[in-house]
Amino acid sequence: MREVIIAANWKMHTTPGDAGDLARTIAGRIREAGVTRVICPPFVCLDAVRAALAEADPEVAVGAQNVHHELAGAYTGEVAAPMLVGLAGWVIVGHSERRRDAGETDALIGRKLGRAVEAGLRPILCVGEQLAERETGRAEAVVDTQLAGALTDHDPAALQAAGFVIAYEPVWAIGTGRNAVGSDAAAMAEAIRASLGRLGWGSAAVDVPVLYGGSVTSANIGEFLAEPSIDGALVGGASLKPDEMAAIVARAALTARARAAAA
Ligand code: PEP
Repeated sequence: MREVIIAANWKMHTTPGDAGDLARTIAGRIREAGVTRVICPPFVCLDAVRAALAEADPEVAVGAQNVHHELAGAYTGEVAAPMLVGLAGWVIVGHSERRRDAGETDALIGRKLGRAVEAGLRPILCVGEQLAERETGRAEAVVDTQLAGALTDHDPAALQAAGFVIAYEPVWAIGTGRNAVGSDAAAMAEAIRASLGRLGWGSAAVDVPVLYGGSVTSANIGEFLAEPSIDGALVGGASLKPDEMAAIVARAALTARARAAAA
């Protein structure tokens, strides 16, 4: 039985002065057994969110939104994986906004993944196609290439032991208000597990949680969680709104309970 995960990506929102209060408010609204809940604030807000969640609900995890591919060195403005230890338990790597704005390649993202695992952080690897790629029938091939580029040098068992998660985030759906169709996202989740199989994961591919991300809200989360191949969501804009998070996690709890009953 795969776990159900709702991860909040706060992107470049909140400050150290207000992030703790928001995290506390959201934590109080998402107390649902069986759902793995993660909040990923900006680096400078990690400590405030960590402290707030330790009081409000220590079961809500903290994640970073990025990590550097080197352990230390002359990389001005960057944050290495060992620096996150104690602040975060999770980390997002390969978000499309970083691929776009920081020119991150699949190979570089693969190195970040390695640093995350070495530091004991639980990684969420983001993959997803551009609109033109979907419209020309290349979405699955693009995601397959992203996975191969990031994962080729990784031992599946080590990634699995680290609690590796994949987020399928079609780029055209992120922050646009235009979400994917549930059945398309489910087909991609299956394609992702097939790619993992070809990359040497064997039967373990089926155990990897695959989240959907891209304009998820309380109104459409049910469409994704109705798909057995989808295990939750990476939520951007809506994750800053306590009412939205409460409803999204409540819907995820229904899926978690149904899975537990069926197991
Ligand atoms: C994201 O930040 O990963 C994301 C999916 O954003 P949004 O929900 O705003 O589309």
